[in-house]
Amino acid sequence: MPGLEDLYREIILDHYRTPRNRGELDPPAVKIDGHNPLCGDEITVYLAVDGTGDDAVVTDIKIGGQGCSISQSSASMMTKAVIGKQVGEINAVMRRFKSMMGIDNIELEEADSEVDLGELEALQGVVKFPVRIKCAVLSWNTLANAIAASAASAADDA
Ligand code: ZN
Repeated sequence: MPGLEDLYREIILDHYRTPRNRGELDPPAVKIDGHNPLCGDEITVYLAVDGTGDDAVVTDIKIGGQGCSISQSSASMMTKAVIGKQVGEINAVMRRFKSMMGIDNIELEEADSEVDLGELEALQGVVKFPVRIKCAVLSWNTLANAIAASAASAADDA
């Protein structure tokens, strides 16, 4: 019987080989680049957000760039985890994910324990390889910048 680690490896490979939501979005979607110099991973997040604040909804997300299997599969899983979700929910998933990655300056909120990470759990083995943690969180850090940029542009429009 295949163990959990085999299942996780399969999920990671599946997202690496068949990345979800690859492509670009036209403005007014924001476009933010992220880079992990330790590994050479590059990622571009295109983000379309409807509304403002924690209630704003991510209506679409696309990923460009290239990098190692961990960075690419993490980005692919991330798109599935955030599309159609509110910014407040996404921030909760982000906190849980970073906490799972052993990033210790994350302040979890009480409700975060109810957050379901779904396929993102497959990346939990990465925490054993500290140099790869930056690969796994690159897409999330880039997403955070994209959310901030889209909030800033919404404020400019108001
Ligand atoms: Zn990498």
